[in-house]
Amino acid sequence: MRDREKLAALSSGGAAERPITVTSSAVIEVRAGALPCVQCEGEYRVVAHDNAGAGLRKVSVACRLCGTPRILWFRIVSDDPN
Ligand SMILES: [Zn+2]
Repeated sequence: MRDREKLAALSSGGAAERPITVTSSAVIEVRAGALPCVQCEGEYRVVAHDNAGAGLRKVSVACRLCGTPRILWFRIVSDDPN
Protein backbone atom coordinates (compact mmCIF):
# COMPACT_ATOMS: atom_id res chain seq x y z
CA MET A 1 0.00 0.00 0.00
CA ARG A 2 2.84 2.33 0.82
CA ASP A 3 4.32 1.90 -2.66
CA ARG A 4 0.98 2.84 -4.18
CA GLU A 5 0.94 6.07 -2.18
CA LYS A 6 4.50 6.82 -3.22
CA LEU A 7 3.63 6.27 -6.84
CA ALA A 8 0.58 8.53 -6.51
CA ALA A 9 2.73 11.30 -5.04
CA LEU A 10 5.04 11.07 -8.03
CA SER A 11 2.27 11.09 -10.60
CA SER A 12 0.76 14.19 -12.14
CA GLY A 13 -1.25 16.19 -9.60
CA GLY A 14 0.44 14.51 -6.63
CA ALA A 15 2.52 17.54 -5.65
CA ALA A 16 2.47 21.31 -6.01
CA GLU A 17 5.48 20.99 -8.35
CA ARG A 18 3.56 18.58 -10.59
CA PRO A 19 0.06 20.00 -10.97
CA ILE A 20 -2.51 18.75 -13.45
CA THR A 21 -3.09 21.59 -15.88
CA VAL A 22 -6.65 22.59 -16.68
CA THR A 23 -8.11 25.44 -18.71
CA SER A 24 -10.69 26.58 -16.14
CA SER A 25 -11.58 26.09 -12.50
CA ALA A 26 -14.90 24.52 -13.53
CA VAL A 27 -13.00 21.53 -14.90
CA ILE A 28 -11.08 20.83 -11.70
CA GLU A 29 -13.77 19.00 -9.75
CA VAL A 30 -14.74 16.99 -12.83
CA ARG A 31 -11.14 15.92 -13.32
CA ALA A 32 -10.69 15.13 -9.62
CA GLY A 33 -13.83 12.98 -9.62
CA ALA A 34 -12.63 11.10 -12.70
CA LEU A 35 -9.37 9.99 -11.06
CA PRO A 36 -9.41 6.50 -9.50
CA CYS A 37 -8.62 5.99 -5.82
CA VAL A 38 -5.00 4.94 -5.31
CA GLN A 39 -6.03 2.18 -2.92
CA CYS A 40 -9.23 0.68 -4.33
CA GLU A 41 -9.79 2.51 -7.65
CA GLY A 42 -13.05 3.90 -6.30
CA GLU A 43 -14.34 7.37 -7.15
CA TYR A 44 -13.13 10.49 -5.35
CA ARG A 45 -15.40 13.17 -3.97
CA VAL A 46 -14.10 16.71 -3.49
CA VAL A 47 -13.88 17.72 0.18
CA ALA A 48 -12.20 21.12 -0.17
CA HIS A 49 -10.99 23.31 -3.00
CA ASP A 50 -8.44 25.97 -2.02
CA ASN A 51 -6.77 28.71 -4.00
CA ALA A 52 -3.02 28.28 -3.47
CA GLY A 53 -2.07 31.35 -5.52
CA ALA A 54 -0.73 31.92 -9.06
CA GLY A 55 -3.43 29.79 -10.67
CA LEU A 56 -2.56 26.90 -8.37
CA ARG A 57 -5.44 25.04 -6.69
CA LYS A 58 -5.15 22.57 -3.86
CA VAL A 59 -8.02 20.10 -3.92
CA SER A 60 -8.66 17.75 -1.01
CA VAL A 61 -10.51 14.60 -2.01
CA ALA A 62 -11.62 11.41 -0.27
CA CYS A 63 -12.53 8.07 -1.78
CA ARG A 64 -16.27 7.34 -1.80
CA LEU A 65 -15.61 3.65 -1.14
CA CYS A 66 -12.66 3.31 1.25
CA GLY A 67 -12.43 6.89 2.52
CA THR A 68 -8.73 7.33 1.73
CA PRO A 69 -7.95 11.04 1.54
CA ARG A 70 -5.69 12.56 -1.07
CA ILE A 71 -4.47 16.02 -2.02
CA LEU A 72 -4.54 16.87 -5.70
CA TRP A 73 -2.84 19.86 -7.29
CA PHE A 74 -4.11 21.70 -10.34
CA ARG A 75 -2.91 24.70 -12.27
CA ILE A 76 -5.30 26.81 -14.28
CA VAL A 77 -3.81 27.76 -17.63
CA SER A 78 -5.94 29.93 -19.84
CA ASP A 79 -6.30 28.69 -23.42
CA ASP A 80 -7.23 32.19 -24.50
CA PRO A 81 -4.52 33.31 -26.99
CA ASN A 82 -4.81 36.86 -25.66
ZN1 LIG B 1 -10.70 3.94 -2.27
